[in-house]
Amino acid sequence: MIIVMKLGTPSTEIERVVKELSRYEITPEVCQGQHKTVIGLVGETAEIDTRQIQNLSLFIEQVIRVKKPFKRASLEFRYGEHSEVVVPTPNGAVTFGQTHPLVVVAGPCSVENEEMIVETAQIVKAAGAQFLRGGAYKPRTSPYAFQGHGESALGLLAKAREATGLGIITEVMDAADLDKVVEVADVIQIGARNMQNFSLLKKVGATGKAVLLKRGLSATIEDWLMSAEYILAAGNPNVILCERGIRTFDRQYTRNTLDISAIPVLRTLTHLPIMIDPSHATGKSEFVQSMTLAAIAAGADSLMIEVHPNPAKALSDGPQSLTPEAFEDLMLEMASLGKFFGRWSKQHSTTVTPKFAARVSATASSAL
Ligand code: PEP
Ligand code: MN
Repeated sequence: MIIVMKLGTPSTEIERVVKELSRYEITPEVCQGQHKTVIGLVGETAEIDTRQIQNLSLFIEQVIRVKKPFKRASLEFRYGEHSEVVVPTPNGAVTFGQTHPLVVVAGPCSVENEEMIVETAQIVKAAGAQFLRGGAYKPRTSPYAFQGHGESALGLLAKAREATGLGIITEVMDAADLDKVVEVADVIQIGARNMQNFSLLKKVGATGKAVLLKRGLSATIEDWLMSAEYILAAGNPNVILCERGIRTFDRQYTRNTLDISAIPVLRTLTHLPIMIDPSHATGKSEFVQSMTLAAIAAGADSLMIEVHPNPAKALSDGPQSLTPEAFEDLMLEMASLGKFFGRWSKQHSTTVTPKFAARVSATASSAL
C-alpha cells in the first residue's frame, strides 16, 4: 500500500502521519520523489481500511493498494517515478537511470593476471567505459573448468581501479566471500545462477552497496522482480536489473536468447534501472554489436560488454569477447545512437588513447 502526499505537504505533517501509522505495526518507508512524497507500507496490509488511512491527514492525496507481489520493486511503489542508482567511483559518481546517459561496463569475463586486467581497464576507459567488469569467482558449468583466481583476483581488480579510477563490478558467488568482495567492488554482481539464492540476496541487501542482479537462466520477469524485492526488503534500494539472455530451445546458434522485450515490459512494472548484457546473451562476439544497438534503441540504461585483449587466449568466454579494436568501434556506434536518443555525454570519453584518437579521425575523414 502507498500513501501519496499532496504537493507541498510540510515535513512535520509527514512525520505526524508516519507516527500515526506506527499503530498498524508496519514500518512506513518515506520516499521523497522529485515531485511527490510517497509513504510505502509493506506487510500485512490486507486488513487495513484505506479510508481510515485517508482520514489521517488532509494532506493525503491518495491511498493505493499495490496489487503486484513485488511491492518495493514496483513502479506503483514510487508512484510512477523511475529510480536512480548513484555509484561513487574514483572518477566521480556514476548514475544509472532512465533520465541519465548510458553507463558502459566493459572488461574480461575473468581476471586472469595483473597485466591483462590493468591493460583491459586502460583500453575500456580510453574508449569511454565507466566501469570495469571482471570475475574473481566464476560460476562455471563444469567443475573442471577454470573457476577464477578468487581472492588474489580481487587484489588485481583493486590495482586496475587504482590505475584507472574506473568503478569495479564483480560477482559474489558465496556469502563467505562477501566481505572481501565488498572491499573492492563498487557494484556487487549477483550472477544468473544465483538469482534465487535468497540467503545471498538478503546478505547483499544488508551491505548497502549497489547490486547488479542478473536475470536467472529460466527466470520469468516476475521471479526476477521478486528477487530484486529481497534486496530492497533488506534495506538496500540500489538495485540494477541485468537481462543477460534466457534459455530457449535454440542453443546451436546463440548461447541464450536476449529478451529485448524485457526492457519495455520492465518499464511498465518497475522503477529500477535496466542493464543489458549482449555478450552472455548471444555467446558470440559477432552478434554483440547488433544486440547492443538494439538494446539502446529499446531504452536500456546501461550495457555490459565482455572485452579481452586476446579473446582467442581467454580463460573463459573468449568466443563472446570483443577485441579492443572491436570494442572501440562499438563505442563509436554506441555514441552515435546514444546521442540520437539523448543518452550520451562527455563523461564517456575524457581520456582517449592516441591510438584510438587516430582511428576516430581516420573514420571521420573516410566518412567525408
Ligand atoms: C558473468 O557476468 O561473468 C556471468 C557469469 O554472467 P551470468 O551470471 O549472466 O552467466
Ligand atoms: Mn563471462
